[in-house]
Amino acid sequence: MPLAFTVMPAADLEQIVNLCKRRGFVYPSAEIYGGFRSSYDYGPLGSLMLRNVRESWVRTMVQKRDDVVLIDAAILGPPQVFEASGHLANFSDPLVDCKKCKQRFREDHLENPAVCPGCGSEGTLTEARAFNLMFKTFAGPVEGSGAEVYLRPETAQGMFVNFTNVLQTSRKKPPFGIAQVGKSFRNEITPGNFIFRTREFEQMELEFFVPPAEGPKWYEYWCNARMQWYVDLGIPADMLRLRAHDADELSHYSAGTADVEFAYPWGWGELEGIAQRTNFDLNQHATHSGQKLDYFDQSTNERYVPFVIEPAAGVNRAMAAFLLAAYEEQQVGDEVRTVLHLHPRLAPYKVAVLPLSKKDTLTPLARSIFESLGERYMVDYDDTQSIGKRYRRQDEIGTPLCVTVDFDSLEDGAVTIRERDSMEQVRIPIADLESEIRSRLGF
Ligand code: ATP
Repeated sequence: MPLAFTVMPAADLEQIVNLCKRRGFVYPSAEIYGGFRSSYDYGPLGSLMLRNVRESWVRTMVQKRDDVVLIDAAILGPPQVFEASGHLANFSDPLVDCKKCKQRFREDHLENPAVCPGCGSEGTLTEARAFNLMFKTFAGPVEGSGAEVYLRPETAQGMFVNFTNVLQTSRKKPPFGIAQVGKSFRNEITPGNFIFRTREFEQMELEFFVPPAEGPKWYEYWCNARMQWYVDLGIPADMLRLRAHDADELSHYSAGTADVEFAYPWGWGELEGIAQRTNFDLNQHATHSGQKLDYFDQSTNERYVPFVIEPAAGVNRAMAAFLLAAYEEQQVGDEVRTVLHLHPRLAPYKVAVLPLSKKDTLTPLARSIFESLGERYMVDYDDTQSIGKRYRRQDEIGTPLCVTVDFDSLEDGAVTIRERDSMEQVRIPIADLESEIRSRLGF
């Protein structure tokens, strides 16, 4: 029978930030030097979780489909790419300065444009000016014009400039997609809300190329598919919504955009954007490079520039949402149990192997179970402290299953499996352990 427990209120951001620091998910960057504002380093558990977010995306978007291929393009790019894409001219946010406190803000994020959100003064904000968000640096030993390069502000341009390469080498034809996961950089005016908005972040983007007439159909398809991805990975549907952009919010290339939004502790906010980029990017790069970027359909004898539907998600932002949705504090007896109900695919460790005691007699069996499960899964091995404390630690980092090796195991060849969410414990023959774990995790 499941144990009785009371559920306590849902997570606020502070709880997640604290848990992330305490358990090794996320640390402030360069902390020993006082921190580097709004940058974060991902620790032993956070780096595993980020990897799981990426892998879950690749699994859904590439592995389980035959119409999408993956690339990994360069982060540094020459100005020509971003001139063609429009980023050099248009990729800016409206910046206002407070003449009194000198702080800077994004005009489109102000609650009241007459009042400085920093110092509360009235009428001290300057007129907005366009602030370009791209990071510029120099390639080679000489700084100066001719040596400028840019850190990509999105991964998308890598797909557009490689359109013909991929078309020729992958033998795909529209509708087909090119996917990429990797770092992007934006000199955000107001980074913040933990890992929600940082200047260095990771994106998971798909450029899906379709015959122009099929644009609206595929846009709808991807809006639905992308919402479902978050639900399948454990975010309750009522914490998600799809919001279509108003005309004045649209990017310079977009014929329609919708955001998948998540109910963050501070309100609804973007988790992912799905944009109809039309044939803007391919046309721009064709014009600027002088190369043809189109598709010849042999079945209809037609040449056309495909339209693009782009679902663009953030790895870090998704991780924040998964953590916020998974976090729970439960009153169990006279104790509070913190548990992360992470989907097994996202949990840093799938299984923890816990020998009941540190005594040498249990170690060889526990280690051999750890090693054999480690062939398939990321497994934690923990023989410190009391078993109760070790269960709580695994609950707090979201490990779906614990395997406890005790002295009886040496006699009866069985171990105890404990489930994170229900806390139920069952005894299983070691010979059946792997198949039992596989069926409980679902993979
Ligand atoms: P926002 O309106 O929040 O600035 P955006 O509309 O500019 O985001 P897109 O260009 O659509 O964002 O980027 C796609 C996704 O990349 C976003 O939905 C988000 O998940 C992620 N992303 C964008 N900027 C950042 C950032 N500064 N930090 C973390 N993730 C980001």
